[in-house]
Amino acid sequence: MKNRWSDSEAEALVSRYGRDYSRELILRSYSGRLLGSEKSLVLHGGGNTSLKGEYPSVHSKSCRALFIKASGFDLAAIEPEDHVAVDMRRLESVAMLDDVSDRAMLNELLASRLDQGAPAPSIETLVHAVLPGRFVDHTHADAILALTNQEDGEDHVRRALGDGVAVLPYVKPGFPLGRQAAQVLSDHSDVIAMVWMHHGIVVWGETARESYDRMIELVSQAEAYLDQCAPRSGETTVSKAADSCEQQLAAIAPIVRGLLATPTPGSRHSCQRVVLQPLTDTKTNALLSNLETSLLISPPLTGDHLIRTKPLPAWLENPDFVDEESFRSQLESVLTTYSHNYQVYFERHKSRLSAAVTAHDSKPRVLFIDGLGALCAGTDVTSARIVRDITAQTLAVKGRIAAMTGVYRVPEEEQLFDMEYLLQQQLKLTVHDSALTGTIVMVTGAAGAIGSGICARLLEAGAHVVITDIDESRLTEVREELEVHNADRVMAVRQDVSDADSVAASFSKVFQTWGGLDSLVINAGLAHVSTLEQMDIDEFRRLERVNTDGTLILLQAASQVFRKQRTGGDVVLISTKNVFAPGAEFGAYSATKAAAHQLARIASQEMAADDVRVNMVAPDAVFSHGTRRSGLWDEVGPGRMRARGLDEAGLEAYYRDRNLLKARITADHVAEGVLFFLERRTPTTGATLPIDGGLPDATPR
Ligand SMILES: [Zn+2]
Repeated sequence: MKNRWSDSEAEALVSRYGRDYSRELILRSYSGRLLGSEKSLVLHGGGNTSLKGEYPSVHSKSCRALFIKASGFDLAAIEPEDHVAVDMRRLESVAMLDDVSDRAMLNELLASRLDQGAPAPSIETLVHAVLPGRFVDHTHADAILALTNQEDGEDHVRRALGDGVAVLPYVKPGFPLGRQAAQVLSDHSDVIAMVWMHHGIVVWGETARESYDRMIELVSQAEAYLDQCAPRSGETTVSKAADSCEQQLAAIAPIVRGLLATPTPGSRHSCQRVVLQPLTDTKTNALLSNLETSLLISPPLTGDHLIRTKPLPAWLENPDFVDEESFRSQLESVLTTYSHNYQVYFERHKSRLSAAVTAHDSKPRVLFIDGLGALCAGTDVTSARIVRDITAQTLAVKGRIAAMTGVYRVPEEEQLFDMEYLLQQQLKLTVHDSALTGTIVMVTGAAGAIGSGICARLLEAGAHVVITDIDESRLTEVREELEVHNADRVMAVRQDVSDADSVAASFSKVFQTWGGLDSLVINAGLAHVSTLEQMDIDEFRRLERVNTDGTLILLQAASQVFRKQRTGGDVVLISTKNVFAPGAEFGAYSATKAAAHQLARIASQEMAADDVRVNMVAPDAVFSHGTRRSGLWDEVGPGRMRARGLDEAGLEAYYRDRNLLKARITADHVAEGVLFFLERRTPTTGATLPIDGGLPDATPR
């Protein structure tokens, strides 16, 4: 493993933060980032680092403190302020006790903070406190886990790292690990590091550099030992055309996603949805076809991963990719068994749980599909991505162990359960309270003023947003704007709504990326100004293709995916007040939108049995969102200004003054209307919500 320490980089960080933090805490952050940037050392918030120092107090003397990484914070981006100062004396006295429950330990950690506003300190705070070095670094290094997680693991570690490293049997992180480490040190004060079986490695030093160097050195020794036992051969690959894999994935992902959702009877949405992240590269597939099934369906490398992955993945053998219904019943059967086993496992061990911890749903987070790869699930794309990265790492290490003809070993089931349900681990799981968590929404015509406004609001409300538009460069612009709010939950796909192939391709792309679709906002539309007498029939048909045909094509595609997922769905058509109150010279727009509106009403009847709701919002005169002009404005604004002898502000005032509430209608108002329906606040379908400030002639009847 490469040693990435650079004095000039370290000094650059010191000069950047030097005014606010001690040199040592800045170097602590620097080497933490180096560890965090190495995926084979830690993944997504795993691992932890600390520094022993002084904390100013209101009394004359400052207090001995441990600056420990906050629980769940990502080392790769660690800031000096992400280290929580805890009272060393208090921790040392806890380490002297015989037994402390998880709950009491968590309380003790929180109470030991010297800044009560700081986040929760790492679960491994106690062990950092008892270790000797001023700087302590702990990782879940792949190479170490490849040694500890096999039969005779302890011997492998000793042979690889020598006698200067203590090897500790597996115990639960928290108080038990802290106490065990303290005991080992009292007997062997000369050790320079510790390997914790089935967990990872911890090293220390008097400087950030010394501790970091030691970590890299020991992990490199473990890597060299592994290479010696089983030289890395060229990966065995399974040949499969990438596009056939993508097609299969697009075809089955919505079925998988639907079956992985957890029913929530009595709530607005019938289930808690998941988002998928696939792992279908050739390396994964080679491992799936070469590893023994018993090794494939075994727990992850370290207990830290259990809250993300659950103890076991699910495995679908010989899937029927030709007949989707047959695939569904194959998977249903696998998941029924999985859920049953998970519930039984929970029942077996639940008596040890503290009252604050409840059972997780019984669905797998990792599903291996023979011949396709892994589908990894999370409550949102960010958590699904963590599961995916852990799965890739787990498979690679299991592959190394298999290459050594080693036998994979993990802690006892009881210990896995205790780790999966450890109170402090539960706190790492993000709490989502939005009605749109895990929901994937597509907005068409998203590069326009109304479309982009809707997308921003949906993103803010917690949805995953697929932005589509025919104009690729404007789409990229909007994507970049939206990514400022949340880069994970936005994806952009080019789409021509008037072309069924283009719509099908864009839907497939979404299924391959996130696994399915729950809601569709039909917003793409064109306007044209002309009297009927002078109407160019080709212009009329151009509007018809987008406004009417496009609506039909999108409704068809959405209906298909909703039926496959079987988790309901929502459609909102951005209609117009012109459906109810058409205007002269606006025939093409009014007629084609009226047809779209009628299609949506019919869809509300045809799709209700699948728990799909179809509603319409009917705005009037939305001309811009921020600096973005609407297509409607481009079409009608200049002409109307000329005809009425008004400037831009004058025209806006004209539209405002013609409604009862004298309201200027904005994209934000339209977005609120869309959100009202997507969040299912009322049991409503086939309805139109006017967003026009009150126009008696246009009131839906
Ligand atoms: Zn750990």
